Amino acid sequence: MTKGTSISEFLKQGKSLFSLEFFPPKNDAGGKRMLSTAEILKPFNPDFVSITYGAGGGTRKTTMHYAKILKQEFGFEVMPHLTCVGHTKKELLEILEDFSKEGFCNIMALRGDPPQGETTFQAVKGGLSYANELVALIREYFPHFGIGVGGYPEKHPEAPDKLTDLHHLKEKVDAGADFITTQLFFENKAYFSFLQECKDTGITVPVLPGLLPALSLGQIQRFCKMCDASLPEKLANELINAEESAQPKIGAKWAKEQVEELLNKGAPGFHLYALNQSASSLKILNGLRKQGS
Ligand SMILES: Cc1cc2nc3c(=O)[nH]c(=O)nc-3n(C[C@H](O)[C@H](O)[C@H](O)COP(=O)(O)OP(=O)(O)OC[C@H]3O[C@@H](n4cnc5c(N)ncnc54)[C@H](O)[C@@H]3O)c2cc1C
Repeated sequence: MTKGTSISEFLKQGKSLFSLEFFPPKNDAGGKRMLSTAEILKPFNPDFVSITYGAGGGTRKTTMHYAKILKQEFGFEVMPHLTCVGHTKKELLEILEDFSKEGFCNIMALRGDPPQGETTFQAVKGGLSYANELVALIREYFPHFGIGVGGYPEKHPEAPDKLTDLHHLKEKVDAGADFITTQLFFENKAYFSFLQECKDTGITVPVLPGLLPALSLGQIQRFCKMCDASLPEKLANELINAEESAQPKIGAKWAKEQVEELLNKGAPGFHLYALNQSASSLKILNGLRKQGS
């Protein structure tokens, strides 16, 4: 992807896209690990990398700090994430202004999760309640940004049912989102059904599948519980029967096979939740390279 282009423009060209997701590290050691992962995966030329935005005051600086390093030192097209958590509309506009001044031209617009210990999301006074409001804000004040939003093949955990969730997803697209990146899923049929459901709801923007290479049974059990994603029995059994040290290899093989099928059946590309670790992503990308995917 040419640097400085919007991801939606790239997706319109119909070329298969590959992207990686990092998260802002909590300390220097984590920072070193993240940057070393970026160095190791750079030769695979991701079309863009994204960096998440966590809850709490520190994230504003940390996301920006690492987004700049990934852009300036590694030359990646970087899409910072932004959430509504704890911010007023005025603060969100300031953060967007900073991203714009630094030359970022794509944003992943999210509501965010309720802060730890709280079960429901509460907007701060003068803040935003849902991601569609953030998308609308970006479109109004920073129309040049490409905007991605989150989509949930197996339904967002808070949504009462799939149809309601899809209706809210359409509101994000109608507000100006250019593309959707999905929550993790381990069975491709969840993605393909979601695509059809999006189409039936009138959502026509590209849907980029988001994939997490499992590192251990415990890890994906936690993730699946958190996001209401299904854990296929076959994958669970393979992990149960393997030594702990062999589990990442099983997770990477599973994710690689998911990518192969997704691309063969016309997905616009894939987004890897790399979790600031290189080993599994390396296995997947080397495996795909060998097979010329
Ligand atoms: C690709 C991706 C990247 C992510 N990156 C981050 C990150 O960087 N940082 C982070 O903290 N979290 C991140 N998350 C997690 C995300 O913040 C949570 O899943 C959060 O709970 C929902 O965010 P959202 O933007 O999808 O919210 P929304 O689209 O606002 O939806 C949240 C819930 O509210 C419902 N809803 C939406 N609009 C309305 C409405 N108008 N009225 C009533 N109900 C409504 C939806 O159906 C859904 O159940 C990411 C998720 C994905 C899929």
